[in-house]
Amino acid sequence: MSATLYRNASVLDGSGAAPFAGDVLVEGNRITDVAAAGRMPPRVDAQTIECNGTTLMPGLIEPHAHLSFVDQTTPFAFNTIPVEEHLLLTLKHARLYLDCGFTGCFSAAATKPRLDVVARNAINRGEHPGPRMLAASVQFTVTGGVGDLRQMHLDPGEAMYTLPCDGPVEFRRAAREACREGVDVLKIVPSGDTSTPAVPSPRTLMTDDEVAAVCDVARNHDRVVAAHARSAESIKMCVRHGVDVIYHATYADAEALDMLEGAKDRVFVAPALSVTWTRLHEAGKYGLPSTPAMKTRIERDLELTIACMIELKRRGVRVLPGGDYGFMWNPHGNNARDLTYFVDLLGFTPMEAIVGATKLGGEIMRMDSELGQVKKGFLADLLLVDGDPLADLRILEDRSRLVAIMKDGAFHKAPPPQLPQRQRAAA
Ligand SMILES: [Zn+2]
Repeated sequence: MSATLYRNASVLDGSGAAPFAGDVLVEGNRITDVAAAGRMPPRVDAQTIECNGTTLMPGLIEPHAHLSFVDQTTPFAFNTIPVEEHLLLTLKHARLYLDCGFTGCFSAAATKPRLDVVARNAINRGEHPGPRMLAASVQFTVTGGVGDLRQMHLDPGEAMYTLPCDGPVEFRRAAREACREGVDVLKIVPSGDTSTPAVPSPRTLMTDDEVAAVCDVARNHDRVVAAHARSAESIKMCVRHGVDVIYHATYADAEALDMLEGAKDRVFVAPALSVTWTRLHEAGKYGLPSTPAMKTRIERDLELTIACMIELKRRGVRVLPGGDYGFMWNPHGNNARDLTYFVDLLGFTPMEAIVGATKLGGEIMRMDSELGQVKKGFLADLLLVDGDPLADLRILEDRSRLVAIMKDGAFHKAPPPQLPQRQRAAA
């Protein structure tokens, strides 16, 4: 069995505890010992890494990934890419996420039915580098809902990124079919979205019995349901019927906030701040926002989402980063930016943002007893970071500062022979 001994690291373990000077032993794919620096006996059979006080932390986990997004400007791009090329791009993004220190990702929808599943399987078989992955279905919504790009005079073809369904029978069939194909996550879109003016964010699109049908299939097949839910009523439907992950929650009213708080032990909320923030502030060269009225609507979305997340955090609801990366103005590979948004926009401490991307990441992946912390018995998904992310979170956005990336006990990026000397954290 291969073994790696990290010596003299500043261990930022993901639990929320202050970093400590420590040694960490990895045997096979697991962390088998964690001790104060200098307490662990030398191991001649282990690759020993003298960390010199660099930070050893859990790999980051992206809770709102779309690996089959292609840094496009509009969703129409999905329909014009043949499935073969689309799979190659999906795998390219999977590798990029690992290069960026994301050793886990929870998919928030694929853009063709089997892209996530095939990518996940290739990664799990060791045929292609990529993060641990929960694979998602395409998104299910109603006729005319977000992403229903059909036009009556055109053949929609097979590969819509949104699958329109109407009535509980159609939703149930779509969900069962996705389960048959091997997805882990069923994605629904019960509300509108500002990006689709015909169905704005405060509008509720799916009905109670449609949401219930998908949740029922998920329970029967032991799958997870994730929802794009911006309207107040859509959030309430999600909580009522047992949706596990709620994205955006923009228009949550007092009753929706109470319901989310009441379900805080089982529900996760992720606002996806980056896609909205960048669309407002960094997408000008792509002609976005497209009109002053659209700009006003996006500003409102962002303002309300921020207020909602601050309130949910105050009430103890698990609020996770993750930012809908994969648009031209919000490209893949910048995912660690979300941690800084959490600090700058939501008032999280850097430690709380890191816990959101590590420990809570393990929880949303449904692997909370073995993923997302530097802890004895946990899976060895680890980053060695040149610098202190608690002092400057933006270090995590700089790939050159991620001096080693380990997934499942094996190096995706091996450390250099000599690591820089860093101030060791106080023992
Ligand atoms: Zn999304």
